[in-house]
Amino acid sequence: MSNRDFPVIDFHLHLPVPEPAQEARWQRLVDDIGERRAALLKQNQAALHKSWRQAWCFPGMEEDKPPAEVQASRWQEELDKYDIRAAVFVTGGGNETLGNALANHRDRLFGFAHHDPFEPGAADELRRCVKEYGFKGFKTFGPSMERPVADRAAWPLWETCAELGVPVLVHFGPLGAGGGIMGGPNISPLALHDVAKSFPDVTFVIPHFGCGYVRETLHLCWGCGNIHIDTSSSQQWTRWMPGDLTQKDLFRKYLETIGPERLIFGTDSSWFPLGFVNRYLEDQIRDCHYLGVSDENIRRIFHDNAARLLKLA
Ligand SMILES: [Zn+2]
Repeated sequence: MSNRDFPVIDFHLHLPVPEPAQEARWQRLVDDIGERRAALLKQNQAALHKSWRQAWCFPGMEEDKPPAEVQASRWQEELDKYDIRAAVFVTGGGNETLGNALANHRDRLFGFAHHDPFEPGAADELRRCVKEYGFKGFKTFGPSMERPVADRAAWPLWETCAELGVPVLVHFGPLGAGGGIMGGPNISPLALHDVAKSFPDVTFVIPHFGCGYVRETLHLCWGCGNIHIDTSSSQQWTRWMPGDLTQKDLFRKYLETIGPERLIFGTDSSWFPLGFVNRYLEDQIRDCHYLGVSDENIRRIFHDNAARLLKLA
């Protein structure tokens, strides 16, 4: 058990299994630029990822990943170990893989649908996932999308999110580990502006405090009351901001603009043997205390806001 006197929900994790959509995207790139250049890119990516892991003294990822069901059981054990009430897996090898993997853990491990928002029938697929797997939201990645996020082709999907009352998590900014995607029409969270304005009855969550786009994210928050922020990840991106910016600064800035009701704790934990990154949780709790955030508001950030969006009692 922990020494905390409040419950915690982690709103942002990934089930560590192969991602077919990611693999297909990589294959398209290989077809495009050839094996030799693709290998160079991989090398670069591995070196950057290693230097990040070394900075945090994190272990390398295990090479052979067990099946999704086993990974879910391991995560259930992690939650017990660190006294975490519930966890949200925003991806997990496609909807079917994630839905089946979480089937025996539905009281504590929740999934988000994470298919292409522009694919034909995307809205029906979300409806199916909510009904069959009990999924609690939809997750997508702006930078890797084939079209602008505001493209009307995804309107029926947002409409369905409103109808079902499920939140949407959209990643903006640098995507993936070092060597990942760092451009395109959906790199800035402001790309979501027209969607968020058109669907004020849908909660959109921007992860990682805006991931390098703090000004743009704060603008979006100011313009659209339905934008929430998740606090997950190591915030490596703060190293590339002009001037010094700490995680504590981020908490302060967001609390000033949106208050404690729209901030949601997450870690972005994923792979083993690392498991749940308790350091992120402890650092975030300390930052909030040092900023003088009240116990009631700490509880909102680390539990209540997520419980509200997930419709938990
Ligand atoms: Zn993530």
